[in-house]
Amino acid sequence: MPRFQHERLEELAAGTVALLGVPCDEGSTFLRGPAGAPAAIREQLHSGSANLCTEAGLDLGAQAAFVDLGDLELGHGTAARCEIERCVSDLLERGCRVLSLGGDHAVTAPLVAAYADTFPDLEILHFDAHPDLYDDYEGDRYANACPFARIMEAGQARRLVQVGIRTMNPHQRAQAERFGVEVLEMRDFDPARRLRFDGPVYLSFDIDVLDPAFAPGVSHREPGGMSTRDALRVIQGFEGRLVGADIVEINPQRDPTGMTAMVGAKVLKELAGRLLEP
Ligand code: MN
Ligand code: MN
Repeated sequence: MPRFQHERLEELAAGTVALLGVPCDEGSTFLRGPAGAPAAIREQLHSGSANLCTEAGLDLGAQAAFVDLGDLELGHGTAARCEIERCVSDLLERGCRVLSLGGDHAVTAPLVAAYADTFPDLEILHFDAHPDLYDDYEGDRYANACPFARIMEAGQARRLVQVGIRTMNPHQRAQAERFGVEVLEMRDFDPARRLRFDGPVYLSFDIDVLDPAFAPGVSHREPGGMSTRDALRVIQGFEGRLVGADIVEINPQRDPTGMTAMVGAKVLKELAGRLLEP
């Protein structure tokens, strides 16, 4: 597994789309495993079974502006969150756009904290079966069930749009109202609806937004989700300028055939294509 080399930041030109592994699953509330996802996704991406082109025909393998920086080496708890935020802040200062591979969804809180410093008018498009708006989960305010509560209470996003949600409970519904979250629940999902954003967009893709039939290798399997095609349509079709993204919650220990990691590699390619748009 490639390791992140801080010295390499000096070489990066503005406009580079940097792939960054964030192998951390300390925030997982049910099963560990997503720390192995960056390696599993890269293995599928480079398996030779598919090319590196987006569906629009952009060959990522031929793009000097697309660079894999490897995986962060992370400590624990607050130290890990600080390291993630510091590294992404350094990349943003250089004018890069970051595509992060989690890790569980807890990593999105420090990722967005870095983005909010650079983009005060940040808007977030969040794909997930779960709203992840718990104030705390069994006492842990940094669990994978909580990142969007941390982001919204800190005022780090001007707008949060959630798609694919199908696990709302009364607490999280109250939190969504408190923070003014636009929740597009899965039961009302319309794949033809085009989402529009005015400000810079950060896209957080929890792979369990997909139906487990398409992506079984996740910790929290929640039936009744999107097809892979539904998700790609939203990614390819939303109006707005994508400045950063993450793909989280792939659990290789629940993915013996590598199918879910392959879906992650597909989503990675389409997100990279949008991040490379001028
Ligand atoms: Mn999530
Ligand atoms: Mn989820």
